[in-house]
Amino acid sequence: MDNRNIEDNLRPKNLDDYIGQENAKKQLKIFIEAAKKRKKPIDHILITGSAGLGKTSLAYVIAKELNKNIVITSAPILDKKGDIAGILSSLNEGDILFIDEIHRLNPSIEEVLYSALEDFCIDIVVGKKTTAKTIRINLPRFTLIGATTRVGMLTNPLISRFGIILKMEFYTEKELKKVIQRSAKILGIDITEEGALEIAKVSRGTPRIANRLLKRVHDFCIVNRKTVIDGEIAKEGLRFLGINSFGLEEIDIKYLKLLINDFNCKPVGLNTIVSALSEDKYTVEEVIEPYLIRLGLIEKTQRGRIPTEKAKQILKNM
Ligand code: ADP
Repeated sequence: MDNRNIEDNLRPKNLDDYIGQENAKKQLKIFIEAAKKRKKPIDHILITGSAGLGKTSLAYVIAKELNKNIVITSAPILDKKGDIAGILSSLNEGDILFIDEIHRLNPSIEEVLYSALEDFCIDIVVGKKTTAKTIRINLPRFTLIGATTRVGMLTNPLISRFGIILKMEFYTEKELKKVIQRSAKILGIDITEEGALEIAKVSRGTPRIANRLLKRVHDFCIVNRKTVIDGEIAKEGLRFLGINSFGLEEIDIKYLKLLINDFNCKPVGLNTIVSALSEDKYTVEEVIEPYLIRLGLIEKTQRGRIPTEKAKQILKNM
């Protein structure tokens, strides 16, 4: 199986299979039941939350629970108005359109979406200059599910078109332990409760990271001729992968060293950090920083990022 297939295989298939996010699930159960009873498509849904928390998986689950088709796309690949018009006009009544990273929509495409979402129609211009005319295309009633890691970047007109807004939370260790045990079962990996808990503790509250670490610790196990991941081998494997007890990885340590040692704890701008770490802006802002903020190791100020006392202590003790 390639990575894409493994990822698809590990996705929860229905709401009962979907671990955690009790608040979002509670709301969804009611809205799904109401939509089924009314025999009308569910309202447009916006799912917000950090990368890897299960937004795409939840969209698949919603489609499955409603027994509807889902079409998956992502805002950065929608380049021209024609791209979105093509997708919209291929939808069937009740279909779900999932747009990932919806905060990155190009404004002209966002405008097409406004009428599609509200009035279920789009206006397209055909022909050139003097012969150009506008044709209205009626669309079936569909449901848009938008996912975003940056809800603050969405425009008000777009946000106001979503009837349901679901906020994804980071997972507890207990929930992540369940995610790991479930994934291990699917992948045929033998793991004890203690082993799953050790991996859960360092997974940054994020199922995608938990799954990745499970696979890497499993590799470590195979190389060391162990058949079961228990607490001890999990700890050893994680140490080998360079992950410390806070779940900090090499790149996080590099980030903290940059602020503390190279910039002497003075505020540092995002662009400087991005180029010093040779990482892309998205990874720094969406993956590295949210966890460092959650652990209370850095603060974002108007003048830039600064390390906290806790971060200085951690580095000192390393
Ligand atoms: P996002 O779209 O928020 O970046 P994904 O939906 O792609 O996150 O989730 C990443 C992976 O984490 C999925 O392949 C799935 O295996 C796992 N996952 C996410 N949420 C859950 C969950 N609630 N229960 C079990 N596994 C999950």
